Amino acid sequence: MVQRQICVIGAIGSQRAGEAFSSDYDLPNDTAYVESCASVGLMMFARRMLEMELDGRYGDLMERALYNTVLGSIAFDGRHYFYVNPLEVHPKTLRYNGIYNHVSPVRRRWFGCACCPPNIARLCTSIGHYIYTASTDALYVNLYGGNRVAISVDGHALRLLS
Ligand SMILES: [Zn+2]
Repeated sequence: MVQRQICVIGAIGSQRAGEAFSSDYDLPNDTAYVESCASVGLMMFARRMLEMELDGRYGDLMERALYNTVLGSIAFDGRHYFYVNPLEVHPKTLRYNGIYNHVSPVRRRWFGCACCPPNIARLCTSIGHYIYTASTDALYVNLYGGNRVAISVDGHALRLLS
């Protein structure tokens, strides 16, 4: 998936039909489905993988998905969302070409199938579980952002403020 099915912004799901992957490297800038929920799910998957195998690639994947797609899919007011996140949108063309029926040029307040807004909110409110990964003798920083943490690593109490 990471080698052949992911956009540079950490978004996955290249086609609307089945909200699915297609062939390798098929990542159309303007018609890709790249749903917000897919990037939330990608972060959940990468975190689980990171818990099983301390490999920085999983942290990098979470970083790509969070800072580009997940946070980009919600407006600063926290009330408007992108359901899909194609890299390229031509607003004047959308209504004249059915291949863009799933694309919106602006974030919307709600959707008929409203999976993305609560998934984004759930991820944002649980972001503390993604920032660090602790092992028995080390603390790994996966994401950057202002936070505080108090944690015990190898019997030593750590308090971090960033
Ligand atoms: Zn969704």
